[in-house]
Amino acid sequence: MLRSVMLRASTSYPFMYRVVRMTSVMAFCLFSLTCSSQSGEEDSYRSARQHMVSQDIQGRGIEDARVLGAMRKVKRHLFVPDLYRPMAYADRPLPIGEGQTISQPYIVALMTYQLHLQPGDTVLEIGTGSGYQAAILAELAKEVYSIEVIEKLAHTAQERLQRLGYTNVWVRSGDGFYGWAEHAPYDAIIITCATPIIPERLVEQLREGGRMILPLGDKPFGQGATVGHQSLTLITKKGEKIEQQRLEDVVFVPMTGEIDKEKK
Ligand code: SAH
Repeated sequence: MLRSVMLRASTSYPFMYRVVRMTSVMAFCLFSLTCSSQSGEEDSYRSARQHMVSQDIQGRGIEDARVLGAMRKVKRHLFVPDLYRPMAYADRPLPIGEGQTISQPYIVALMTYQLHLQPGDTVLEIGTGSGYQAAILAELAKEVYSIEVIEKLAHTAQERLQRLGYTNVWVRSGDGFYGWAEHAPYDAIIITCATPIIPERLVEQLREGGRMILPLGDKPFGQGATVGHQSLTLITKKGEKIEQQRLEDVVFVPMTGEIDKEKK
């Protein structure tokens, strides 16, 4: 009796009921499909990232477990424009807008490794760009201060790092040539744009025994040229002196701002 009453009740508004039910079933399917394709996409990015680390980073001689761990963890595809996401785990630089590029993953790993970061370290980065290198540093050090000369990039990177949950990175827009004296001395400094000279202020802001890495040398030749004369250089501060070690030839976008006056 009860059953028949219920049935009758449910058939008293059949059309609208079916429409609503169909719509909600379709919406649910669409939602699950989107979720599963998103998680499938995440999985394929994850495996591409693991492959990149083992082939292009470990495969080229970087064995430091902490650096490899950070490179495995940070999602490079979230730091590049949508258009370039499918290429995010290729070992190559990619455009990030404003005529700038995110460095090749191997070079990011190499520069990071050479800083020999400890969990309690304070690091200064010149050239925030996308914020990717800053995120890698933030995985390994206590505090990261990063300066970006292009305001729009600084703003986007800061928002992105915040969204990704990094609470130990501070981004500021300005000319990194002067460093960020307030938080000095730094245990390590990384410059991710090419400079023809070693900026003195930055050496001053490095602690005794601290390490600084930078691409030292000229701009690439002419418009659109890809070959420059830059050497990845590691500097160690020893009292009044600095020790310099050339690591390998690299191509970086040039430092702009005050440095241009110094060159003349
Ligand atoms: N580390 C970045 C890549 C940097 S590309 C990343 O992980 O994405 C080099 C960056 O240095 C560019 O964004 C460029 O705008 C910036 N730059 C150039 N000259 C600078 C200066 N004087 N001070 C701060 N940033 C500078």
